[in-house]
Amino acid sequence: MTHININDMLTSYDKKNLVIATVCSHSSLQIFNGAKKEGFKTLGISIGERKKYYDAFPHGKPDEFFIVDKYKDIVNYAEELKEKNVIIIPHGSFVEYLGAEKFLTLNLPTFGNRNVLMWESDRKKERTWLEGAGLTMPKEIKDPKEINIPVIVKYHGAKGGKDFFIAKTYDEFSKRVKKDKSYTIQEFVMGTRYYLHYFYSPIQNNAYRLTKGSLQLLSMDRRDETTIDEVQRLGSIAELEELGIHPTFVVTGNIPIVMRESLLPNVFEMGKAVVEKSIKLFGGVIGSFCLETVVTENLEFKVFEISARIVAGTNPYVSGSPYSEFIQPDLSTGRRIAQEIKFATRKKVLDKILT
Ligand code: AMP
Repeated sequence: MTHININDMLTSYDKKNLVIATVCSHSSLQIFNGAKKEGFKTLGISIGERKKYYDAFPHGKPDEFFIVDKYKDIVNYAEELKEKNVIIIPHGSFVEYLGAEKFLTLNLPTFGNRNVLMWESDRKKERTWLEGAGLTMPKEIKDPKEINIPVIVKYHGAKGGKDFFIAKTYDEFSKRVKKDKSYTIQEFVMGTRYYLHYFYSPIQNNAYRLTKGSLQLLSMDRRDETTIDEVQRLGSIAELEELGIHPTFVVTGNIPIVMRESLLPNVFEMGKAVVEKSIKLFGGVIGSFCLETVVTENLEFKVFEISARIVAGTNPYVSGSPYSEFIQPDLSTGRRIAQEIKFATRKKVLDKILT
């Protein structure tokens, strides 16, 4: 739990000149670009050196760079950053590199509810949340000896699917598993993957209505994962496994996608249920979040993961998506975040969307 009081943090802030800040990686080009479109100044926290590639992207480049030696050092510069009037937009890499503990104690106003972290990073709690919301998750196999269907083995805290593997029998599992690491075994769900990008506003009622606030669907993507997504260029997975070549799940990029329109009601029902449950459990997931799903041949959704902040899968939609176009032209998730901060500033409710 973060015990930082958001209103205390904001007292020294000049609310008319807020600066949108994030770490220069992941979805930062989109975050800076979206903030600029809404008239904000931007600051890029860069590790080691000013990232040169931003010069090639003037509309995605922050107005100012702030250089630190290591991600973990960011907490030590909180006072300096506060003086710069920054609001932090956390993204996946930000949280991962800073570490959960430091992220929770970072003494800077941060977009979203930081208390979500313990519910998404602990697989047991995540299941309590998502199944408690009525979503269907892949079955969990507690005892590897009971593997009698294809399963995916996931290591805890693994970055971007690193070292995950598929097994179909206990024998295959035993040969591959790294005994020194903790893992979860899940049913491998057959179907097609959709990563759904939502935005929940607790302070605006102009979208899909919830008990409190409203929900938008801004876009969806499919991750490109190597080597699983292209392994068939060399041979079938079974053939390759015989040669000791195993597919891997490392994310290398993101592909835009849309789904059958008839599935959209389910998408909104799932999003709504997840938000309503989160409000009861820890005060609510605020802003962007993503449900990682597989749609089966019976058109059922199985949700295998939630990410409770902007995901890199939103990057193909810097100038809007086939869904956000129906909300407002040129609306990226980065821009939507900036709009929420602008709206909250105007209505004097920043404490409802920052922690
Ligand atoms: P995760 O770290 O949970 O996002 O998983 C990494 C990747 O593994 C996902 O992007 C999917 O491609 C795949 N994956 C994860 N869980 C499942 C599952 N239960 N069934 C099928 N594929 C999965």
